[in-house]
Amino acid sequence: MNPESLEQIIADLGDCQRCRLSQKRNRIVFGDGDPRADLFVIGEAPGEEEDLDGIPFVGRAGKELNKWLKAIHLSREEIYITNTVKCRPPNNRDPMVGETAACRPFLVRQISAIQPKVILTLGSPAIKTMLPDIGGITKVHGEVHHFEGIPLVPTFHPAAVLRSRNIRLPQVVNDLRVLVQILYGRPS
Ligand code: URA
Repeated sequence: MNPESLEQIIADLGDCQRCRLSQKRNRIVFGDGDPRADLFVIGEAPGEEEDLDGIPFVGRAGKELNKWLKAIHLSREEIYITNTVKCRPPNNRDPMVGETAACRPFLVRQISAIQPKVILTLGSPAIKTMLPDIGGITKVHGEVHHFEGIPLVPTFHPAAVLRSRNIRLPQVVNDLRVLVQILYGRPS
């Protein structure tokens, strides 16, 4: 059977009111990038700029992420990117479990539609949403896990690197090496 289209998922999402994040959002931030991407990236939640633009990772964290992608010879147009929730949590708080649970079926359908070669999760809410039982991000970053048969590599969130660059950036560089091995079958 052919995978469903992203357009079908957007149609089902509609003017989503499945959790209370819908009450304060300006725009649903569905996802962005190549629907045939090899790399599927999952962040945390839209922030202020994303909520206004309707596009994930357009703010400061996004600019940091773009540098990581460039380092592994990828552009934003070549990947697909979304978040654990599609609406901005008030004051940029972490998404709550009920909110990620309401949004997760759509995220899983996006992954099935795109059929990526590898998934990269950014930060704690993303790995907890995808694989709740494997442990915290400081323990599991850079390990290869699997989601529905697709290799999944957790790393830190770009905002964490902006906060403590000296500690987190070298860890992210190592994690991206693991990702590159899977993507290209060789070190970058
Ligand atoms: N912007 C997003 O879209 N997601 C994040 O996790 C952070 C900033």
